[in-house]
Amino acid sequence: MEAMIRSVSPRDGQVKAEIASASREEVQAAVARCREAQAGWAARPLAERKAALERARRLFLERAEAIVSVLSEENGRPEGESWLSEIVPNGDLFSWWISQARRLLAPEKVALDRLTYPGKSASIEYVPRGVLALITPWNLPVAIPLRTLVPALLAGNGVVFKPSEWAARSGALLAEILNEALPAGVLEVVQGGGAVGEALVRSRIDGVFFTGSVATGRKVAEAAAAQLVPASLELGGKDAALVLADADLERAAQGIAWGGLFNAGQNCAAVERIYVEAPIAEAFTERLREVVASLRLGEDVGPLTTPFQLEIVERQMEEARAAGARVLLGGERPDRPGLWYAPTLLVLDTEEVSVLRDETFGPILPVRVVADADEAVRLANASPYGLTASVWTGNRDRGRAIARRLEAGVVTVNNHGFTGGIPALPWSGVKASGSGITSSHLALREMVRPRTVLVDRSKNPRELWWYPYNPRLVEIARALRDVALGKMLAFARLLKNLPKRFK
Ligand code: NDP
Repeated sequence: MEAMIRSVSPRDGQVKAEIASASREEVQAAVARCREAQAGWAARPLAERKAALERARRLFLERAEAIVSVLSEENGRPEGESWLSEIVPNGDLFSWWISQARRLLAPEKVALDRLTYPGKSASIEYVPRGVLALITPWNLPVAIPLRTLVPALLAGNGVVFKPSEWAARSGALLAEILNEALPAGVLEVVQGGGAVGEALVRSRIDGVFFTGSVATGRKVAEAAAAQLVPASLELGGKDAALVLADADLERAAQGIAWGGLFNAGQNCAAVERIYVEAPIAEAFTERLREVVASLRLGEDVGPLTTPFQLEIVERQMEEARAAGARVLLGGERPDRPGLWYAPTLLVLDTEEVSVLRDETFGPILPVRVVADADEAVRLANASPYGLTASVWTGNRDRGRAIARRLEAGVVTVNNHGFTGGIPALPWSGVKASGSGITSSHLALREMVRPRTVLVDRSKNPRELWWYPYNPRLVEIARALRDVALGKMLAFARLLKNLPKRFK
């Protein structure tokens, strides 16, 4: 494993910090510390865990400037974008989970059939899974971990968190802030690259929460399967925006520019394919060109975060040009140090190019003109990915109807991709985008296991199904079957055969 991680600013190529990478033994030790601390954390009353997370919320908001500054140096994020995507929604995320935890974690009573199961009451309790591994990417290095950390900790889990090596500083800062409010060991951080992630997944953990690429997700799933622990996978995307002829052009152009270029396009839910109906294609593309041309490099659109993302963008653009793409804007690196790429708008006549097939994760907006909404839906669904999609139309009913035909975990009508910041709404994908769920009560269910508790008040010495088996018992079973089939006369047979103690 690499000994040191060098944090290089994508804005100017300067080395800003060096962070020690964990060894395999240090990963094991972090998991062991977490396991020891988790038992005590889970045993605390929920009110205490809520109070600790409330302290963490306040510290998180108080230290916002420091977080924004690291995001700017480490990821190259524009300041306004960091505030609006990594700080403000996450303050709300803490509050929502803290306010909902009691309701969502409360035991549920389950009604049992009183004829078949007399004197019994059952409930489902939600028990923390134990020690969870959290492995996250570099693109939203605060928001993505928090979506798992806050509910997982509230539910009584311990978490061993491995940030991406490209977001090691923001990961360390986030953990430092939370740890000021948490008992020691409940949240451990292990720094390092893929080998550290792999060592973590192969440690004695009780579940993995992974966000990242399809290729790594597959490796993580295999390692988790070998240990028989569950893996929640949030993977890549190739999101389509469908612009229908009756769309509000101004809103569509503004929304799609943001949806595609937010975080320099390095967003799992970035608009990476734009299918526009022919009647408005020219007007829409022209307005989109004007909007994108007005964006300021640095203030509105940051650089790419990693050299390998820049390589992907350049490769895809080269291929698109060779396939006859019309580049209306951008399509090149500006002349300045750092990992910059100009926001790019291009029009394509073919689907057979990687910029429309493979994940880009860059500031590229590819447009394709389609005959009608049916063609747009067919092309959108042809992707192996299915994270989010958006439909832009002046007719909300039509928007809803098209949304139901799209193979995606999240579909927005007249908006794009922002719901990942709303803790009450599930965020999930279909197909290669992974089956993990982030946010909402459904995500919490992946962080706990159910414990069924049944209490029997019966004073009977024996249950009906206990020994001995005899012909009378078979008669009772037959009568129960007939009652289930709606043969009401079977009740008389049932009552005749049932031993007195059950009547
Ligand atoms: P990667 O898959 O490269 O990395 C994700 C994390 O896994 C990183 O922390 C990485 O470490 C770690 N890792 C690498 N190899 C292994 C391994 N063998 N075992 C365990 N962990 C490992 O993804 P990126 O960081 O490049 O992130 C971009 C991807 O994430 C895109 O595909 C994007 O669509 C997806 N994503 C999905 C989201 C969703 O909600 N569905 C949200 C955001 C992003 P290191 O970085 O140090 O190598």
